[in-house]
Amino acid sequence: MRPRVLILGAGYAGLYTALRLQSKLRRDEASITVVDPRPYMTYQPFLPEAAAGAIEPRHVAAPLRAMLKRCQVLTGNATEIDAERRSVRVSMPDGHKVDLGYDFLVLAVGSVSKTLPVPGLEDQAVGFTTLGEAVYLRNHVLSRLDRAASTLDPAHRAKLLTFMFVGGGYAGVEALGELEDMARFAARRYYGSVDASEMRWILVEAVDRIMPEVGRSLAEYTVGVLRKRAIEVRLETTVESMEGGHVVLSDGTEFDSDTVVWTTGVAASPLVADSGFSQDELSRVECLPSLQVRGVPNVLAAGDCAAVPDLSSDDPGATCPPTAQHAVRQGKVLADNVRAILRGRPVRTFSHRSSGAVATLGLHQGVAEVYGAKFRGMPAWTMHRLYHLSQMPTANRKARVLADWLLDSVFPRQVVAVGEVHEPRRDFVEQAQRG
Ligand SMILES: Cc1cc2nc3c(=O)[nH]c(=O)nc-3n(C[C@H](O)[C@H](O)[C@H](O)COP(=O)(O)OP(=O)(O)OC[C@H]3O[C@@H](n4cnc5c(N)ncnc54)[C@H](O)[C@@H]3O)c2cc1C
Repeated sequence: MRPRVLILGAGYAGLYTALRLQSKLRRDEASITVVDPRPYMTYQPFLPEAAAGAIEPRHVAAPLRAMLKRCQVLTGNATEIDAERRSVRVSMPDGHKVDLGYDFLVLAVGSVSKTLPVPGLEDQAVGFTTLGEAVYLRNHVLSRLDRAASTLDPAHRAKLLTFMFVGGGYAGVEALGELEDMARFAARRYYGSVDASEMRWILVEAVDRIMPEVGRSLAEYTVGVLRKRAIEVRLETTVESMEGGHVVLSDGTEFDSDTVVWTTGVAASPLVADSGFSQDELSRVECLPSLQVRGVPNVLAAGDCAAVPDLSSDDPGATCPPTAQHAVRQGKVLADNVRAILRGRPVRTFSHRSSGAVATLGLHQGVAEVYGAKFRGMPAWTMHRLYHLSQMPTANRKARVLADWLLDSVFPRQVVAVGEVHEPRRDFVEQAQRG
């Protein structure tokens, strides 16, 4: 029997591992199985633009079966790893479970939103890491404008028009920047009875700066850009509670909000926490520089769920940050190391010095730091688009994203809430119940 390579997770790290293995291994060298609950890879850096409607959400999803023709793709959720038996239990969409054996296991299950025990969080907040959350937020924000335009209750109207983002990393700042820009455009252009100045957009950050991915001066510039747009940036502030949508902040401020987006960072996927492999304080599985899990040479890990020593850093204890640029490169090295082990050759180590960060803050606004050079405004925003377009998997997706941008530059933005996508059967069920 051919050696079996089992890849859990097909995001950046898992997809690029699988792509490289299917192109570099002969068919008789190994079988490759990829397991992910979603049939597509999400290009996360485009989520803010998908939420704002600049990119059609489907175009941010790269279909696995079309790209991984030489792999077996299983749509399922890995729930248990038995390293002794070299087996993984996978829960399939219809509820049945299968046990998949492996000779090489690749852990690439990424991360989940990191939550805190804040009263009301579970009922009120939404994260911003998946395509579903981006689509939901777009419809939710626009439908708040629709509801505000029709309510007669001023307190309820204020609640509907108050949007709070918690956590000032690039995911939160980009999501806030894009959604505020879209909502302001919509209010000015199409909602005569909702004045853009009535909306309250708030960013709450626990430490004294935002965007740790860029230098302090660019972070301060970003705060300036947001404040110029009347966005309230509250640094060194935490959220105490949000029960029933009533928000209490650590500085004593209280207000009602119908929209809370929680972007305080990520934690490794629960599968890794329960795996029994050695982990760091963030529950990421501890790896050697070869991406092999410490003490288990036939299990390798990459991406947000892996604590990989950062050989480019002067700090000997440093690990690689959770970014797409690391996940993609780790996936490629991981695949090369699986091939090397199969062929009885030495493995290589992973090292990558971060090239910087690019971020969008809304149409024509951005910040970028690339190899130490800093860019702001339109040049940074252009770099953000060009860089991510070049990184988007497949020519098909690249062309579709480009077409979305070109159409958007000719026609006004589409700002319509299609909330019924979240409850597609509601009207039909009501009708059926009426008889
Ligand atoms: C809004 C946003 C913007 C970002 N912008 C940037 C940016 O500009 N630049 C940058 O470098 N990084 C950016 N990032 C971070 C980057 O997207 C992540 O670091 C990257 O996605 C990590 O890759 P990964 O493969 O580890 O995880 P993911 O890409 O999250 O993939 C993990 C995969 O595992 C699957 N999975 C999870 N659990 C299981 C399970 N139990 N069984 C099977 N499969 C499972 C998931 O469905 C998913 O497909 C951004 C992130 C966000 C949220």
